[in-house]
Amino acid sequence: MDLGIAGKWALVCGASKGLGFGCAQALAREGVHVVLVARGAPALQEAAQRLTADPALPKGVQVLHVAADITTPEGRAAAFAVHQDYDIVVTNAGGPPPGDFRDWDREAWIKAVDANMLTPIELIKATVDGMAARGYGRIVNITSSAVKAPIDILGLSNGARSGLTGFVAGVSRTSKLASANVTINNLLPGAFDTDRLKATMEGGAKKSGKSIDEVRQLRMKTIPSLRFGTPEEFGATCAFLCSRHAGYITGQNVLIDGGAYPGTY
Ligand code: NAP
Repeated sequence: MDLGIAGKWALVCGASKGLGFGCAQALAREGVHVVLVARGAPALQEAAQRLTADPALPKGVQVLHVAADITTPEGRAAAFAVHQDYDIVVTNAGGPPPGDFRDWDREAWIKAVDANMLTPIELIKATVDGMAARGYGRIVNITSSAVKAPIDILGLSNGARSGLTGFVAGVSRTSKLASANVTINNLLPGAFDTDRLKATMEGGAKKSGKSIDEVRQLRMKTIPSLRFGTPEEFGATCAFLCSRHAGYITGQNVLIDGGAYPGTY
């Protein structure tokens, strides 16, 4: 299927690896010019080189990268300095650490809310009116399956991302945006094979005294697909939500979790 987005411009945050990279790769393979953002310059540069060398990329696709912390006003300014009129924005800034809510002070909460709620809201604010004026816009927020099925030790994530989800539910349904072909959706990953998941597995192994492989196998058994998802699968879903064909899908929370969420709705 031709997604009909060749020549569009996408800002992809948290894109040097993992799910963000998967989204950037899928979009670039559709002919979308991509601007990759992450804090660590060497990994980001390596990711941009890997993408540019991808034989599946159509000719002429531009791959730019900006080493910046997207959760800061300066970082966002840097992302908009290389390109302004984005047609597609994928928001993502890593996830807050796990822990016990008794240990989290105001500063920990502000950091989580800043990264996982206010930053996507700032990026939406900076782009949707221009998208509406041009008649095309797609925002995809990478959130978490924890929005639907909260995980006790991920209270910072549960709380901050729920705030974003409530905001998106309202703003995406305003007719000024929806009637102008601007959609805003959240993509909710379950367990995906990325460095973040590896770090969680290492933590689990340390705590339980089991090997990392044992912890991996046990976790996979809790998922009906009996495996973790791949960044490529995640990216393909993101690219579809950004496509011309998805103009009637807005305000949705799209779970991509191998069947792990146990509910009907
Ligand atoms: P990952 O493999 O750790 O990659 C995170 C990416 O975001 C890296 O490129 C990282 O690069 C970048 N990043 C982090 N903080 C940033 C910041 N402040 N500004 C700019 N870039 C930043 O993580 P992932 O697994 O892809 O996860 C992506 C998101 O999905 C996270 O919010 C995570 O909590 C959520 N999620 C993941 C899973 C899963 O199973 N993987 C499940 C549920 C939810 P730098 O560190 O160099 O900036």
